[in-house]
Amino acid sequence: MARYTGPVCRLCRREGVKLFLKGERCFTTHCPLDGRKVRANPPGERGKGRLKPTEYALQLREKQKARRIYGVLERQFRRYFEMASRARGVTGEALLQLLERRLDNVVYRTGLAASRSEARQMVRHGHFTVNGRRVNIPSYLVREGDVVAVHPRSRDRVRFQEMQERARSRTPVAWLEVDPDRMEARVLRYPRREEIDTPVQEHLIVELYSK
Ligand code: SF4
Repeated sequence: MARYTGPVCRLCRREGVKLFLKGERCFTTHCPLDGRKVRANPPGERGKGRLKPTEYALQLREKQKARRIYGVLERQFRRYFEMASRARGVTGEALLQLLERRLDNVVYRTGLAASRSEARQMVRHGHFTVNGRRVNIPSYLVREGDVVAVHPRSRDRVRFQEMQERARSRTPVAWLEVDPDRMEARVLRYPRREEIDTPVQEHLIVELYSK
């Protein structure tokens, strides 16, 4: 599956907010958006852009922000939107729910990975199981009751021991029951909007795709 491989801090500068794409570094003063190193201007010669963005520009930026946070390319993101628009309830919330249910995001939410891109790489390398079966597809959508765990053969690796420590120090999200000692998490239910801390205005994305 194709993915963005360019400089990621540039994406945060483009959106003007921290998207937390680099793991631990995002929480240090090395973050360009920290304000202490460089000014957080959008990249490029015309970085400052128009003074007053159009309605379309605002909708587009919100969609790009969501795509970049979850590391999803355009075609797949649109597919999620189509699934969300067919689902019952509020489309914007259903869209975020689908993105949260991706296996790489769930691994990130457990605290075992420092960023979604690290989680995606670990999933792709076959380090995780869902209900006891190895799954190496980052976009795999978990369901209620699923148990996501580190593959038994990966558990003794030093890297995973360190990740276990990180998971212990994280505050778990309410919709996952995380057991750092067993390196696993159970999906209790799908997240509600107020439990998703992703800083996007999903109604703008819905407006964009509904044109
Ligand atoms: Fe974004 Fe993290 Fe880079 Fe800061 S360090 S600009 S939050 S990816």
